[in-house]
Formats: sequence, structure tokens, C-alpha cells
Amino acid sequence: MELIRIWKEIDIADIDAHLIIVDDMYGYCPKCKAIGIKYEAIKNCPQCGIEFKYIATRENLQTHSGRNILGKIKKFASDLVLIDYNDYKYATDKKKASDLFKI
Ligand SMILES: [Zn+2]
Repeated sequence: MELIRIWKEIDIADIDAHLIIVDDMYGYCPKCKAIGIKYEAIKNCPQCGIEFKYIATRENLQTHSGRNILGKIKKFASDLVLIDYNDYKYATDKKKASDLFKI
């Protein structure tokens, strides 16, 4: 199986509520700021309990380290939706900016 990026309209609030960000060793829960979440236990946040549905990484997936992360995602978190971190960041920054001027 190959990885192909797909563009899809998606509710950013749902991602905010169910996202884990991973590096090559551990995961981080942006919701409660929990760090050191092990790949082996990537279903729910051990600190705030949210269910993870989306996974993202700040690493470039074309690098050796990125491919290592992809391997771990495939092994431990294949049921999560892998989202592009830059797309997510762009969408959340855009939303923050529009909220700021909506007063
Ligand atoms: Zn959490």
C-alpha cells in the first residue's frame, strides 16, 4: 500500500479535539500538553483521556526520520487519520486570525 495525500473538507474543531502530534519517539497531546505518549498506547491521551482520531508530525516525512515515523504510525496507529501538519497549522492560524477580527 502506498500513501497518497488527499484533500478533503474537514472540521478543524474535530481535529483540535482528537489530535496527537508525534515525533520519532513519542506523542504529544496539544489539548492538555501531555508529552511522552508512547506509540504502543496511542489510542487515548493518558492525561486528559481524549480519543485520538487524527495524527500529525512536524517532521518532514520525506526524510529518514520522517520515514521512521511513518513506519511507527503504520504499525501502532494505522486506524488514525494522518493529516499534514502544515495544512492543519495553516487552517488553525487562519481561523485564529478571522476570530480575532470578528469582535
Ligand atoms: Zn491530553
